[in-house]
Amino acid sequence: MGVEIKFLGGVRQIGGNMLIFITSGIGYIFDFGVNMALLKRKERLGIRKIREKLREHGLIPDIEMLEEEHHIKIKAIFISHGHMDHWQGIKGLPPRRRGIPIYCSPFTCEWVKRQMGKEAHEFNFKKLNLTLDPVGEKRFYDDEKIRVVPFIVDHSIPDACSFLIIDKVHNKRIIYTGDFRDHGPLSQQVLEPRQSQFWTYFKNYLKSSSVDAFICDATNYSDIIKYNTEEDVEYDVRRLINAFGESLIFVVISTLSDIYRIHTICKVCQKTHRNIRIDGEYGQVVNILKDSSTYSIASGIVSPLLNLKVIDSHERQEIERNPQKFLIISTPHRIFRLISGVSRDIIEGSCCIISTSEHFVEELGISTKDFKDEISSYGVQVYESHASGHVYPDRMMSIIEALQPSTVYPIHTNYPEGVAKFIRGHRVPTEVCIPQLNERYVV
Ligand SMILES: [Zn+2]
Repeated sequence: MGVEIKFLGGVRQIGGNMLIFITSGIGYIFDFGVNMALLKRKERLGIRKIREKLREHGLIPDIEMLEEEHHIKIKAIFISHGHMDHWQGIKGLPPRRRGIPIYCSPFTCEWVKRQMGKEAHEFNFKKLNLTLDPVGEKRFYDDEKIRVVPFIVDHSIPDACSFLIIDKVHNKRIIYTGDFRDHGPLSQQVLEPRQSQFWTYFKNYLKSSSVDAFICDATNYSDIIKYNTEEDVEYDVRRLINAFGESLIFVVISTLSDIYRIHTICKVCQKTHRNIRIDGEYGQVVNILKDSSTYSIASGIVSPLLNLKVIDSHERQEIERNPQKFLIISTPHRIFRLISGVSRDIIEGSCCIISTSEHFVEELGISTKDFKDEISSYGVQVYESHASGHVYPDRMMSIIEALQPSTVYPIHTNYPEGVAKFIRGHRVPTEVCIPQLNERYVV
């Protein structure tokens, strides 16, 4: 028997990733997500305190039952990045199992702790620094059974990583991509000139050894988000700033941790002489960013973002006097409070650009249309300009062609059959396995 992979979440859905690797009696969990759509549905049905009772409501598996069923001991948990749909399930770990080490990058670790609040100290977080040469700098996890090499990836939150998992017992190599893309600022400005995207790094490190399994983010095999890059967003925002030359402009992004989108808006504002103000707790993001791996790897992107100003009440008057000088970044949760606090005279005729990287409905629990209608009702002109935080199918295919893994497992998608057909339509010596929930696959 080789190494086994069991998909406990993130199958036939976007988000809720959770996989377990089992090798000779030991289990390692990669991501510990909750199906957000299901969670929200249960909340809408009026089930209360559900976030504290994830296990009882079947939103995450029971770790101890899993250990019993497979005759294993779970040794470690690895979290790929700070988006809630990849880690929220750890809150459902029973108190006696909260000592299992949870490995994640510095930003992810601090971001998760911040979202958890007081409860965070009950868990055993361990930081894994991301670098462009994790093996050379000995920044990886290693025990007698496996080696886990984390590598920074471009996504819509800093310090996201993919993992190369080497099973030493069975001599197998597995790549779990987490969520990633190759069309954001991190790819363009830092990684590409150095040829250091995760697939090139892992391929160089493995030399002639093959990749046995490639568990890949296939979110964008659908028509939900347009085929845009950060440069497209830059173009759109610039055009709208020109069109609304005398008006106040708002940009609504999913969360303030989407620093790459903030970077894009920042670039446009510099060129068009608009002052950026951020509405919300951006100061906390900055504090975490200063100690993140992303800052040490991509300081060119991050440095200008550390000095962005958070809006304060005194400044509101200045904004009302000179709305044409400002662009305000806010989030779906805060925008209405902000709009209500500014004089109606300024708000009417202003421009609001909704610019997200992730699925909007999940963030808010309402549809984009309802959200747009609500903002429009204040007399605001609403536009949308998005770029996905996830890789596009043609680029995913190029990566598969470069890596030539024995088997691809498409996850984080609503349409795995479509992805499978798409991959099989190319001349690659790669099998496609459509993973089923709770099925075990031997690599
Ligand atoms: Zn994500």
